[in-house]
Amino acid sequence: MWLEYALDKDNNPVSIKDVKRGRTNLRCPYCGRELIVKKGQIKKHHFSHVNEICNAISRKALVGLPLYDSFDLGLSPKYLEFLNEAWEQGKYQKYPNNPRIPLFLPVDVEPLEEIGVFRWNDWRRMSEFTKLGKIVVGGLSLNLFNQEQELRLKSRLEFLEEQIIKSKSESASEDLSYAITDYRLYREQYRKILRASLYFFEIKADNGISHKIGVTFGDIEQSISEIKLDLNQHFDTVSIKGLGFWSNRGNIEYYFQHRYQAFNYSLGNNASYFKFDDVKPVLRDLRRMKPKQLCEREREILEDKALDKVLLSLYIRHGMQKSEAHIGRPLAQRESTEKFLAKPKNQVVIAVLKKGLSLRQTASEAGVSVNTVRKVKAALEQNRDP
Ligand SMILES: [Zn+2]
Repeated sequence: MWLEYALDKDNNPVSIKDVKRGRTNLRCPYCGRELIVKKGQIKKHHFSHVNEICNAISRKALVGLPLYDSFDLGLSPKYLEFLNEAWEQGKYQKYPNNPRIPLFLPVDVEPLEEIGVFRWNDWRRMSEFTKLGKIVVGGLSLNLFNQEQELRLKSRLEFLEEQIIKSKSESASEDLSYAITDYRLYREQYRKILRASLYFFEIKADNGISHKIGVTFGDIEQSISEIKLDLNQHFDTVSIKGLGFWSNRGNIEYYFQHRYQAFNYSLGNNASYFKFDDVKPVLRDLRRMKPKQLCEREREILEDKALDKVLLSLYIRHGMQKSEAHIGRPLAQRESTEKFLAKPKNQVVIAVLKKGLSLRQTASEAGVSVNTVRKVKAALEQNRDP
């Protein structure tokens, strides 16, 4: 796996996107060792260990957000090219949203059906794009994309939870510690997209009208003035108008860039500026998105509850609190009861109790209060229980 998060000195996760290349004082979330930032042209940007092998990183782990910043599903360029062509051809057909897939394909179509990019339509007697397939080519509307991605976001969260439960019940401590870190890093990314609000701006500058998509974690006015400052390096006059703002929608930024990449125009190394021939369909696409409804789990992620509390409630949900309780609290309680009974004064009380006298008589013979006899008796009974 590519390590995309590291820990700072306060143990907070830092994203690869927020650091410059080269040496850092950040540490590996799994093994705690030193990391350097690799930002090259070919491989995905990642943190790398300095001359060391990290067992955690050599595993295959799914800690990235599904369909967040990559949409090729790991397909080879040959397949991607074929898919894009098939989709493009749809524009000239009767059903552009369901283009005719040629019967004789330059590629073997079976793997595409296996990963769910195509499905066989018995009525049309041909393969067609699934929603997932449309995501690969950027053909799925933003609203439907949200629904598809949301399902996957949640099921990966559940998958990572299952990994924790599995390694915990198998008492595999190394696996458990990796699984917890995987889960933590995933939640951190999830939190980030939930915290973010999506914006869509119209920008008027010397070169005409353009548009910008982006996310903000705070004040929209501040974002506007930051963008203005940035654009003033390129243009004399800049004015910005907000066309839309969507809370908890950080998940859509990269898919938008992917879907509308044909209209992208680069300004420096920023991929978020666009020049549309007609912006109306784009606005419709954006405005059809339903407001994000946070489920209970997402609300919990947004609150950023401490990890040990999150894990505890996870164990409780999976019925693991009972075994926890058996080796946990009662053991400590039993120890303190034993200590209490071992006191010399209480040993005398125990000896007298064996004679079978009343509480009052026992108290008088042992030279203690009735209340003490009661406590000793209760402690003896408690200790007898398994
Ligand atoms: Zn490591």
